[in-house]
Amino acid sequence: MEKRLLKTEPLEGKFMLGAIEAGGTKFVCAVGDNLGNITEKIQIPTTVPNETMQQVIEFFKRFEIEAIGIGSFGPIDIDQESKTYGTITSTPKTAWRNYPIVEAMRNAFHVPVGFNTDVNAAALGEATFGAAKGLDSCLYITVGTGIGAGAVIQGKLLQGLSHPEMGHILLRRHPDDPYQGKCPYHHDCLEGLAAGPAIEDRWGEKGINLVERQEVWDLEGYYIAQALMQYILILSPKKIILGGGVMNQKQVFASIYKHLEGLISGYVTLPELSSYIVNPGLGDRAGIIGSLLLAEQALQDKTQRES
Ligand code: ADP
Ligand code: ZN
Repeated sequence: MEKRLLKTEPLEGKFMLGAIEAGGTKFVCAVGDNLGNITEKIQIPTTVPNETMQQVIEFFKRFEIEAIGIGSFGPIDIDQESKTYGTITSTPKTAWRNYPIVEAMRNAFHVPVGFNTDVNAAALGEATFGAAKGLDSCLYITVGTGIGAGAVIQGKLLQGLSHPEMGHILLRRHPDDPYQGKCPYHHDCLEGLAAGPAIEDRWGEKGINLVERQEVWDLEGYYIAQALMQYILILSPKKIILGGGVMNQKQVFASIYKHLEGLISGYVTLPELSSYIVNPGLGDRAGIIGSLLLAEQALQDKTQRES
């Protein structure tokens, strides 16, 4: 039988599902259904695995959930053939390194567990219920503490050896930007130049306090536009969704449109940029709703294996 990793076809009926959006500062846990409804939601601080996971498990024990979906910070191991499948791999949060989060949830609940990156979950959420609803492809990018992207292509989450790491691509430097970059691995990759901490480090203030500084947001758009250019040329997504704290600065969108237009230079025909590159339709719920869909897919995979 063809091994399909992910599908966007809904299950027939309504199921009670659990979802975890596992982040570096907090875990959002929710109970809801496969139609995108959330009935209960809590936040748990990300400390050490024992402490955080105990609270996570306590929360879900109150419900009769049929499957769990986890959208996690990464990098993570999502290769189902791998010995270390279901673990968080090389996070700077050392207590979580190699932590087998899928196994922990399976052992506690004995239900199917879906596992993918937080941004892949968000891409799935947006493709199913959000700004890319009805489309079979989209790209979801977060510009926050880090930069990451997830892609739905031909109705499935993009996966190769592992999940893509689109936040770490290399860019052409702005000639007037001497900032060395903040990525511990690559210095001046996209994340190193344009994530929230890089903005703060370069300009000496948090982004939220730089609203009036036009040059900050122009440079931000300059880098993000270059990244979008690469993603568009390689993946040709039907919609691009930009979330994360930094994208609350609406002026970045204007800068992205301006720079992207110059870069693309008419070579490929794109929809009107203001409707092509947009904020998440699900707001800050894209990741958690997408995680419910990861749960649905885990349940679907189990049903298929048994039939
Ligand atoms: P995380 O990526 O940790 O999930 P966020 O998406 O909120 O969380 O990203 C946090 C980063 O975004 C921080 O570097 C913060 O300074 C920046 N940020 C948050 N809100 C804003 C805002 N309104 N304007 C500019 N930058 C912001
Ligand atoms: Zn990097």
